[in-house]
Amino acid sequence: MGLKIGLDIDGVVANSFPVFLRELNKHYGKNLAQIDNYKMTELFEVSQEDLSAFFDANVEYLYFAPEPMAGALATIESWFQAGHEIIFITARKLGIQEQVTRKWFKKYGLPDEKIIFAGGASKTFAVREYCLDVFVEDFTTNAFEIAAIGVPVLLLDAPYNQGKLPTGVTRCYNWEDIKCEVAKLACSKGLTAGTFKF
Ligand SMILES: [Mg+2]
Repeated sequence: MGLKIGLDIDGVVANSFPVFLRELNKHYGKNLAQIDNYKMTELFEVSQEDLSAFFDANVEYLYFAPEPMAGALATIESWFQAGHEIIFITARKLGIQEQVTRKWFKKYGLPDEKIIFAGGASKTFAVREYCLDVFVEDFTTNAFEIAAIGVPVLLLDAPYNQGKLPTGVTRCYNWEDIKCEVAKLACSKGLTAGTFKF
């Protein structure tokens, strides 16, 4: 048995925020340089209803256009080769968002059997249910909740997740860092790539 690795999608596997930023700037007539506040309602000064309506109307584009994060696909592939198990847990919802997500996974050759569409629910439920060894996330609220139940979190650095991190959350600056941290964790559990010692 390898590690059980949990992955968020937006801002971790999919480089979604540059697409969101571009489209939201266009739609709301703004010229923001970056998303430095995860609460996009505050950033664009719009209501949740308005923002949700925009996402619903453009779901196909917003969730299909993003490129994978640099290094993500190769690292995920190497984890499968090493015998690790991967579970995707996203705040995306069932229905049309799920369909677009599965299409995106297919396009990039990612296996889509294990995707949990948590919607607005806390991710800790799924993290516990799957007994994950580590979780990769970009949203601090999720990261802190998961770390608080004792599962180490790797936080992929972004303008909206700056600041001090609690115990159990490690900031990673790119997928090379994430790969390295997962390798260290595998080592600490007596697992090395391909050969497992117990
Ligand atoms: Mg995310």
